[in-house]
Amino acid sequence: MADRYLSFTGSAPGRFLTRTLGLPQPVPLRRWTPQRPALDGVLLIRTAGTSALADPLPDDLGLPVAAEAEHPAAVLVDATGVATTGDLARVHAALHPLVRAIATSGRVVVLGAPPSPTDHHQAAVQQALEGFVRSLGKELGRGRTANLVRARSGAAAASTLRFLLSPRSAYVSGQVIGTGDDAPEQLADPECPLAGRTALVTGAARGIGAEVARVLARDGARLVCLDVPGAEEALRATAAALPGGASALALDVTAADAAERIAAALPDGLDVLVHNAGITRDRRLANMPAERWSSVLDVNLTSVLDTTDALLAAGVLRRGGRIVATASIAGIAGNNGQTNYAASKAGIIGLVRSLAPRAAAEHGVTVNAVAPGFIETKMTAAVPLFIREAGRRMNSLAQGGLPVDVAETTAWFASPASAAVNGQVVRVCGQSLLGA
Ligand code: NAD
Repeated sequence: MADRYLSFTGSAPGRFLTRTLGLPQPVPLRRWTPQRPALDGVLLIRTAGTSALADPLPDDLGLPVAAEAEHPAAVLVDATGVATTGDLARVHAALHPLVRAIATSGRVVVLGAPPSPTDHHQAAVQQALEGFVRSLGKELGRGRTANLVRARSGAAAASTLRFLLSPRSAYVSGQVIGTGDDAPEQLADPECPLAGRTALVTGAARGIGAEVARVLARDGARLVCLDVPGAEEALRATAAALPGGASALALDVTAADAAERIAAALPDGLDVLVHNAGITRDRRLANMPAERWSSVLDVNLTSVLDTTDALLAAGVLRRGGRIVATASIAGIAGNNGQTNYAASKAGIIGLVRSLAPRAAAEHGVTVNAVAPGFIETKMTAAVPLFIREAGRRMNSLAQGGLPVDVAETTAWFASPASAAVNGQVVRVCGQSLLGA
């Protein structure tokens, strides 16, 4: 659905009026296109004190690095060695002179270290970086974002840094992402990271799922698109539009034999499993019949738990595989009328955090979740006008996200280069004020 306010504020009278009235001033976000795959400008790298990274940052972070620039596209501050409040001042010193000059749709990425369980001074100041980055994200404006990556290894953090420093992360701001130590796989073709891999996306007939399928196919994956039999026509159209011989699987994920049928459709195994199918049946708890409760829990959580368990146990997910589940900011912040939906989406977060280390150790598979905020789809087009307008504006970027924003985040999780990204829940919400 068109965001008329965003178009209006893009015009000269709109800019004047909204500035005069103190209204939100969103700018159109700069997203990835084949013609403009990188941000325009250079990356400045600063180190707050001494880096504590075990190995250096890779040379290629997707942007040319410069020592100085009038309007940098991005600034990366290595704050991994920050261990005292005195050191913290170095983060201020690194960014204070630059922040105003960062280009429209620019990026700030702070690289921190995991907080220490034994050194509470280090833990305090590393946690301080979280408040710092989240506040900066709210201040930046002009489509600029700020995120914190906690890392020990520069090489292992590379895919995450490249994502955050690119137009692919346009609607990701105010996030804290931890990366582990697993060495990344070297990509034969960085333009086609999923070449030779098979991905299955549930709920792929429309909305976010259809876009996830498109972006994973763009990145080289062979797609199996799944949706309910009632949506088979749209599902077939989605699959037919994809390159690489995509197939359609008409199946209700809550069916008793869902995992068996998925496995049967994947005789050569699966590399990327995207649990995207989801429903809402909103009603306040006092008015919610049991059927509304259970249908949402069945689709959004139970089916995800059951198919994940069955596909892992049967070895359908190959080593190096990726599971990406779909949570929601409602599962973090809660939402009036959505006790069922928020419970199901919070459950996804619990699943990801618990399963991730075991899935990696036992199956060589990572498990992460996207938590979308307000994304422009049929689901949100059905929301009453004033609530919809509030949902769009109540985030640091003052606009709704697009399905492609969730899809790009999923593609980053799905990449073979993201072996060190595990157990993460990343909000794609423009730094929504809900649950902030
Ligand atoms: P959508 O309603 O447009 O699409 C959901 C798809 O899932 C539909 O094609 C539907 O047929 C399919 N589906 C539903 N039940 C199914 C079942 N039992 N088996 C197989 N397929 C089934 O929704 P969307 O906006 O694209 O949302 C996609 C996911 O993102 C959902 O999990 C949703 O909860 C989540 N999400 C969306 C938003 C948003 O703003 N749109 C925000 C937060 C989270």
